[in-house]
This record gives sequence, C-alpha cells and structure tokens, in this order.
Amino acid sequence: MDIDALKAFLSSRGFPEYRFRQVTKNYFSGRYQGFEQMTDLPAALRQHLSASFPLYSLKLSALEKSPQAIKARLVLSDGLAIETVLMDYGSWLSVCLSTQVGCSLGCRFCATGVMGFKRNLSVEEIVDQLLFWRCHLSENGSPQKISRVVFMGMGEPFLNWDNLVASLKIINSPSGCFIGQRKISVSTAGIVPRIYDFTRLNTQINLAISLHSLKNHVRTSLMPVNRQFPLPVLLDACFNYVEQTKRQLFFEYVLIRDVNDSPSDLSLLIDFLRSHRLFFLNLIPANPVLSKIVPSPPQTVNRFTRTLSRLGPNFTLRRSLGADISAACGQLATK
Ligand code: SAH
Ligand code: SF4
Repeated sequence: MDIDALKAFLSSRGFPEYRFRQVTKNYFSGRYQGFEQMTDLPAALRQHLSASFPLYSLKLSALEKSPQAIKARLVLSDGLAIETVLMDYGSWLSVCLSTQVGCSLGCRFCATGVMGFKRNLSVEEIVDQLLFWRCHLSENGSPQKISRVVFMGMGEPFLNWDNLVASLKIINSPSGCFIGQRKISVSTAGIVPRIYDFTRLNTQINLAISLHSLKNHVRTSLMPVNRQFPLPVLLDACFNYVEQTKRQLFFEYVLIRDVNDSPSDLSLLIDFLRSHRLFFLNLIPANPVLSKIVPSPPQTVNRFTRTLSRLGPNFTLRRSLGADISAACGQLATK
C-alpha cells in the first residue's frame, strides 16, 4: 500500500491521526486480506478505503513448493510479474525480495539477467512482497515468523536506489515491518558509486558483493558490469566500506566449472580474503540455469572448502534452498 497516499487520503477527509496508525498497523501485520476484514475500523472508513486503494499492490499468480522453500509468482498492477521466495532454515524463516522486473546487467549465469530489464519496482511493490509472505503464513495458521530479509531476488537493488532505501526504512521501522537491520542483507553486482553511498548511510544492514572472480577478464566475461566498474575500482570501494563501517563485508562466489574454479582462482580468492579481517566469503555451488553454466563438481567444491578451512579466511558454503523449483539464487525469471 502507498503509505503517503493513505495519509493524504485520511487527512483530506478529516479522520483523526490515530486512524492512520491503526490502518498501517493492520497492513504491516499481514493478518488481513482486505480493508473489509479490519473490523477495528468504522464500517464507513472500511468502505471508503476499499473503494479507493488496493491493500496490497501484488496478486498471487502461482505458488511452487519444495521442502524448504516456496516460490511465489506475483503479478503487478500493469500485468508484469516478479518472483519472491520464502526459505525455511529450520530455526528461522527468510524471504528473498526482488527490486526490479528483470535486470539490465545480464550476468551470464543468471536467469533474471537473461530475461532483460523491464522496470524498477516501487517502494510498495518491494515491501508488499514481505507482507505477501506474512499473509501467506497467517492464512495457513503458521506460528512461524519471518526473521530475515535478503535483497537477492530479481534485479540489481543498487540500480533502484531511492526505492531500495525507502523500502529498507519501512522494513526496519518499528512502525513498519520491524525487522532488525542486522537481519537484512542487500546484494549488489558491484555498482561502485552506490557502494560508497551505502557506506555513507552507516546502517547495520549487511552488504554482499557478487564477486565470482578475481581475474578481471574472467569477471568481465561473466558480468558485463565489470567493464563499467572493473575489479580494482570495485575492491577499493570494498576496502573503504570495511574501513569506514568496521562491519563485515560479504562476498558471493558462485563456483562454475572450468570458469572460476581452478587452483589459481582459489589462491587469488584466499589472498584477497586474507587482505582484510572483515571480509567474509559465501561460496555458492552454481545453480544450473542455462546449459552453458555447469556447476563445479563436488570434488572441486571440496577442494575450495578444505583449503579455505585450512588457511583461515571466514567463509560458509551456502545451502541453496529451492533449486528443485527454480527458486534458488539466479534462477528467478518471469516471461
Ligand atoms: N543483482 C544482485 C542481487 C540479486 S542476485 C546481485 O547480483 O548481487 C543474488 C545472488 O545470486 C548474486 O550473488 C548472484 O550472483 C547469485 N546468482 C546469480 N545466478 C546464480 C546461479 N545460477 N547460481 C547461483 N547463484 C547465482
Ligand atoms: Fe542482475 Fe544480479 Fe542476475 Fe546479475 S546476478 S543479472 S546483477 S540479478
């Protein structure tokens, strides 16, 4: 819902201030499918609101379930569609949000990149993905709560900067979705000026950089954005981030067979990670999307993890939930 429009609507009709807080509290709770169900509001107000606003800006068109992940395809008011994923890690639930319909950056290993760019999502379209999942849990009588939010769905968050920042505020706010900053992560393919902007925001929100190679020509072949912001420039921004914020910086490295998984790739990666104690690696075996992208074989993944464990850099091997329903990283696409 467009909160500013709601505020203007209520004040233009002379409703008291507390009605705004009441309606928004209901909206963020995810316990209501429509204004009609908000029985704590006067009937006339409910009717007015239903006639003037959609409560949620997204409509469910398809749901796919796997044991630990559910992927929803949601249709926007102009008929375009996006995908969002709910992941169950056992002791916590996490949602993965999209920020754009498609993506203009065209990374070779990513299904969203291959579909091209359609448009940016609005603030309400970003926030409503999280509320969609709250509604879904509430409808299914689930006692579980969503405790983490990752901006790792369709699109490049840093190319939808203003709406990203506004939606982060709402998601974090106690009068909004009330998710702690440390439980929110944003991933970027490396839009360098925005990494500096994000550093200056000086929040506790986690930042992840999609690295994927420390060889400039290899990174360019995988991620065309590396032409505009080559590795040396990107890495400067990364050092600046950790120096300024004193916070951990996460790097995503998708292992693709015979592309970025050689012994020399591994030693470059280790040297880089050891260059700052706040660098943290998320190693991700590639999820198959296109026939050209072949995940590194298990023995290669093992060689990486064994060597990393032995030599000390902080890392995790990320569990990719939902690959069987094309809900894992890089597999989101809508026609
Ligand atoms: N555009 C942003 C955020 C969305 S992509 C970015 O690129 O960082 C989220 C993560 O999924 C990124 O780290 C991306 O590199 C990764 N990813 C893309 N395609 C993938 C694939 N086929 N297998 C595994 N991870 C992939
Ligand atoms: Fe866009 Fe990220 Fe996919 Fe690259 S990996 S195409 S930046 S969504």
